[in-house]
Amino acid sequence: MRYGVKLFVGIVLSTMLTSTGVLAQDITVIKAGSLFDSRSGDVTRDVLIVIEDDRIVAVMDGDEEIPDEAEVIDLSDSFVLPGVMDMHTHVVGNLANNFFAGYFQSPHRATIGGVVNAEKTLMAGFTTIRNVGAGDYMDVALRNAINDGEVPGPRMAVSGPSLGITGGHCDRNSLNSSFEERSDGVADGPWAVREKIRTNVKYGVDLTKFCATGGVFSKGTKVGMTQYTLEEMEAIVDESHTHGRKVAAHAHGNEGIKRAIIAGVDSIEHASFLDEEAVRMGMERGTFFAMDIYNTEYTLERGAENGVPEENINKEREVGTRQRQSFTLAVEMGAKVVFATDSGVYPHGDNGKQFARAVRFGMTPVQAIQSATSLTAELLGWEDQVGAIEEGLYADIIAVHGDPLDDISELEDVDFVMKGGVVYKSK
Ligand SMILES: [Zn+2]
Repeated sequence: MRYGVKLFVGIVLSTMLTSTGVLAQDITVIKAGSLFDSRSGDVTRDVLIVIEDDRIVAVMDGDEEIPDEAEVIDLSDSFVLPGVMDMHTHVVGNLANNFFAGYFQSPHRATIGGVVNAEKTLMAGFTTIRNVGAGDYMDVALRNAINDGEVPGPRMAVSGPSLGITGGHCDRNSLNSSFEERSDGVADGPWAVREKIRTNVKYGVDLTKFCATGGVFSKGTKVGMTQYTLEEMEAIVDESHTHGRKVAAHAHGNEGIKRAIIAGVDSIEHASFLDEEAVRMGMERGTFFAMDIYNTEYTLERGAENGVPEENINKEREVGTRQRQSFTLAVEMGAKVVFATDSGVYPHGDNGKQFARAVRFGMTPVQAIQSATSLTAELLGWEDQVGAIEEGLYADIIAVHGDPLDDISELEDVDFVMKGGVVYKSK
């Protein structure tokens, strides 16, 4: 038993009697057949989770008494775990179905697409995501609409426009010079990047994303080539941290990864070409590695028919195999590897497919779930809000009928989704 009956009675009395003395109606109790503890990795049988409004107020033994007033959700035949999280999504983009959509869709249209994608992501069990890179603050608008309860979607930490050098991965390079095409986040030089971050903060971002190397889906960039000087990267990190914003650095090549780690970024996105020294440097400085090891399969299978140019498909071939070897190396060395999929490159809502790949390339099922719950909460700095089923945290809870510790692919088809005490899916 984790909490005594005395504590439970105390909570019920203090929460059910409102200031006017009227009984509140909003206590929910989930009967969980198996409950996954994301901090220890242990599983407890027959547990009651007591929820009031949007928060968990108690977790206790299954034989404790359930108050008459409570609404009971019976998941006694299910495996219950915290809502999972994806640290690298692009919910306001639709690259997966039409590579050039970004050139022809207005930001308004793309934001409406984001509303649809956010719901798909939530229904897949992802109750918290980071959206890393969106022009026109489309991601800020979507996050706010979700937080206001107007549309269903995960909790979102958003970056706004990604910072990048002129002509780099975070710029747009497909059109000729007469179009004067340029991404929102392009900034060269330490003071220019500081100004860009101040602008992003002004318009409501939660974190900074920048491009430290070339990338797969940009024109004319090489994945191995570093972008930004150390001076610029240090300015990005210093300015962001001054404003309480964490920094996510897109980096494939080894040198760019190391430079970003030295500059003090919080997470390396993709981290494709890792060597032991880079992993060790990250571990010494507490850097997280956010590695998308599912989407290669989708791009190589479906990229050509979705209009992805040959240049970019060839880069994916170059990166995919090495990235999985890097993932195995980082996991074996004990680095902080978080769940991050690059959704949008593949169809939204399929995020859970990466769990099976995480296990195939070196994680235990327990580690794979922790990489998407307790560890992601740590990266966000939201440990006291999400990532575990504990008193005081948001009631972000999912369930599957099978045991994902036996078969991790259970998490590809989640049966129950609750976010903030509201049930969005139950089957
Ligand atoms: Zn991405």
